[in-house]
Amino acid sequence: MIQVLVNGQQLLIPSDAEWAEILRGGELNGRQTSATFLWSVQRCLPVVAQYAELSLTILDLDGCHFFTKVFLGVADYKQRVFLEELQCIVCNWSGWTADPLVEDNYIGLPWDLVLPLIQKAMTFPLSPCPTCGAKLPRRHPIWVAY
Ligand SMILES: [Zn+2]
Repeated sequence: MIQVLVNGQQLLIPSDAEWAEILRGGELNGRQTSATFLWSVQRCLPVVAQYAELSLTILDLDGCHFFTKVFLGVADYKQRVFLEELQCIVCNWSGWTADPLVEDNYIGLPWDLVLPLIQKAMTFPLSPCPTCGAKLPRRHPIWVAY
């Protein structure tokens, strides 16, 4: 399994076969994963597989808890995002979106690092509804499925 360092945080990138094995057996590196983690993998993996700019990684926090971490590639920068389905209240378009401001994106990072990362995240333009151009509700999406 590939290991990468992003913002000083060690993350795992399984191959397609390793993802399949994790989902089949529920284990990673010989440890049982949680139902929440597996649900997150099942939810994110099909979306990430469709878009080259998205990647799904695993954070092994303190050797206790596994979390999924999704990244959106913007030029050379890897922005942490949370994938979520949103619906446009104007035209009813619904689809996957990526929000950089969800707190969980930054789990395990020291606050003095989180602050500049969030400031950087705020510099990306908001993505409107891809169908009618209206602002999408509630969240702060900087990417929408197309
Ligand atoms: Zn719309």
